Amino acid sequence: MVKCNTCGSLLDELPNIPLEERLPCPSCGSKSRLYEKELNAEVKVRSSLKLKARHGQPGEVKPFLELQTGDSLFKETGEWNKREKIEDRENDRYVEHIVDPRTGEILHHCEESLRDHQGHGSAKRKK
Ligand SMILES: [Zn+2]
Repeated sequence: MVKCNTCGSLLDELPNIPLEERLPCPSCGSKSRLYEKELNAEVKVRSSLKLKARHGQPGEVKPFLELQTGDSLFKETGEWNKREKIEDRENDRYVEHIVDPRTGEILHHCEESLRDHQGHGSAKRKK
């Protein structure tokens, strides 16, 4: 995808043509270009902390409490946000909390029964 670096107009132009062959932007006349590659939908984690708590009993498969906190890159905004996720199996509680670290604004807050949450499409149970 080629965009005008001055006004942001989307241009019908190949990204690899030499500068002298570039036509000025039809909107503002600029020859400066901005190239964008499509990002994947995946959430990239820059730094994160994962905590799992177990009772330590024999035969215990899953931790009764899982806590995950870290930086997540969101494709929608291209910005890093603080993400916190708690899976509390003992109290059947699921919490997901995403905050914009620059403004402190809560972007996403979800608190529900863990059973309800696992019924959603976003958290498919792996077999
Ligand atoms: Zn332009």
